[in-house]
Amino acid sequence: MLNFLIYRRGIAAIVGAFILAAALAAPWVQAAALSDAETRTLTFMREEEKLARDVYLTLNDLWSQPVFANIAKSEQQHMDAMLNLIERYRIADPAIPTVGLFANTDLQAMHDGLIARGQQSVTEAFYAGAAIEEIDILDLQEAIAETDKADLRQSYENLLAASGNHLRAFVRNIEAQGLVYEPQYLSAEHLEAILSTPTQRSGNPGRGGRNGGRGR
Ligand code: ZN
Ligand code: ZN
Repeated sequence: MLNFLIYRRGIAAIVGAFILAAALAAPWVQAAALSDAETRTLTFMREEEKLARDVYLTLNDLWSQPVFANIAKSEQQHMDAMLNLIERYRIADPAIPTVGLFANTDLQAMHDGLIARGQQSVTEAFYAGAAIEEIDILDLQEAIAETDKADLRQSYENLLAASGNHLRAFVRNIEAQGLVYEPQYLSAEHLEAILSTPTQRSGNPGRGGRNGGRGR
């Protein structure tokens, strides 16, 4: 009988310890779902997509060019895609609702510089747009290389394909003015690879058809 009581108490202690461990582990498991680097990158990408949207909204107010209005809508979708991931992984959303305001001071400075440039002329505004897309492409490629999570990779791949489309659109607008576009951040080879890639359809959730010409 005594042995039985000790046995019962032992089971209770083990169960209790297990419940305590589970309770302690639960919040930790959630926080660790993304690595620190993945969390930083997702947080950054959410605001970088907002930077693109906000610059295009402001430049469209200034210059009333369809390329800015259309691409601003696409950037809103990219912001929404990043927010979905932020909510899925329960990390803090950095995005400030006001257009032109950013939590990240580097992005704030970048935004302000791009607006100052885009105010100079419509051509400079197109160059500001192309600069955003080049930077976005480089940052997205790093983000993809950093993670093995399928949902993050898929979202970043979708944004990367769209950034290629956007860069081609800005380059078309620049070259329509008789200028030859030179890359601002990409290598000449990388730009050439993107410019020679056909426009890729967005809104296609499948994986197929996305590989042609990308990733070089
Ligand atoms: Zn985007
Ligand atoms: Zn874009």
